[in-house]
Amino acid sequence: MSRSACTVATLRQCRRRKLVELLLLLVLLWLLPAFFIGWIAGQKGRSRIFYFLLTVFLSPLVGLLVLIALPSRLPPPQAASIARNRRVRPCPRCAEEILLEAAKCKHCGSELAPLPAPGVAKSLFWGPVTPKR
Ligand SMILES: [Zn+2]
Repeated sequence: MSRSACTVATLRQCRRRKLVELLLLLVLLWLLPAFFIGWIAGQKGRSRIFYFLLTVFLSPLVGLLVLIALPSRLPPPQAASIARNRRVRPCPRCAEEILLEAAKCKHCGSELAPLPAPGVAKSLFWGPVTPKR
């Protein structure tokens, strides 16, 4: 469409349009990797905005290399699974895993005596937890 309109009379406009297209392409090639690197940084538990800006101001290559060089800030998967396992207990009736605080089994529907949650001691220490309005 724009290519066929490139006659001698519109040559100047055409050049300007091509320059704008080139700038848009540059922005896409620069900003899309920046967004991508920012997203990866977020997945690694790091600041998305910092790595986005780092990539924009330096280059996608620099952002990527820095991101690869730095280790992940997230806890290792083992620690995460241990933390998750603490929050569950087996149901006394059907032996399925249920939440520690559960008052009713989601698998068999039996009523359960709720155990004190691990967060209780913390909430006692910090004072009673009251819902914010
Ligand atoms: Zn059950």
